[in-house]
Amino acid sequence: MAHVTIDTMKAVVVANWKMHPQTFKDARKLFDSTKKAIETARNVSVIVAPPSVFVRELSRGYRGRIAFAAQGARAELEGAFTGDVSLAQMRDARCTYAIVGHAERRARGETNEDVAAQLKASLSLGLSPILCVGEKERSSDGTHYAFIKEELRSALSGIKPSDIKKILIAYEPVWAIGAVKPMTSRDMHEMGIFIRKCVVESIGDAGMDVRILYGGAIDQNTARPMIEEAHVHGLLVGRASLERGVFVAILESLSA
Ligand code: PEP
Repeated sequence: MAHVTIDTMKAVVVANWKMHPQTFKDARKLFDSTKKAIETARNVSVIVAPPSVFVRELSRGYRGRIAFAAQGARAELEGAFTGDVSLAQMRDARCTYAIVGHAERRARGETNEDVAAQLKASLSLGLSPILCVGEKERSSDGTHYAFIKEELRSALSGIKPSDIKKILIAYEPVWAIGAVKPMTSRDMHEMGIFIRKCVVESIGDAGMDVRILYGGAIDQNTARPMIEEAHVHGLLVGRASLERGVFVAILESLSA
């Protein structure tokens, strides 16, 4: 069965379900409501990242335009890594995308080197990486810029400039993930310019075309303003992707 590739000319919304829901029955309901919502949200492309155990069954027989992503997986093809899954296995389960470097995995010990290896493994397996970067806190002296620059440099070093078209960069300030409010669209606009500059420094002029997403506390009221005012290509959504009504409202707001 073919893997789904999304239309990245449209606004991209990545639904990161994290370790939710508890049962496959509820995962099926959530996926069904997302499928229904996307029928009318023609201007939006959706990537769903369910827990790995649900992906194969959700994708079975599905022929629509929602793509699947791994939430995080190892670069090694297989091996003695009890409890983990590999990017190759997620590709085999019909994922087309792979979130790499999510803050919740970095907090559990994934290093910049691990993230770089996962990014390269994703590309070589034909998965498009969604590279997450973001500082833990902001200081008035701007040290967070150096932090983001290093996360980008280490992840992108050695990639072919032509591969940048396959990569989405999700800027997710750790302090905004799970927070009440997202960062301001003005600050995100500034960060987007900085990220593009860093990518150009790393891989050359091809980096101008990099597609940047924002993630952190987005809901149905903040989704559209963030895309329009911060000039980002899309959003990575955590909690709001689990509340069926809210996620539908996000997609509708972007399609209006
Ligand atoms: C995330 O987990 O990447 C995220 C953006 O979460 P939330 O939308 O819940 O802040």
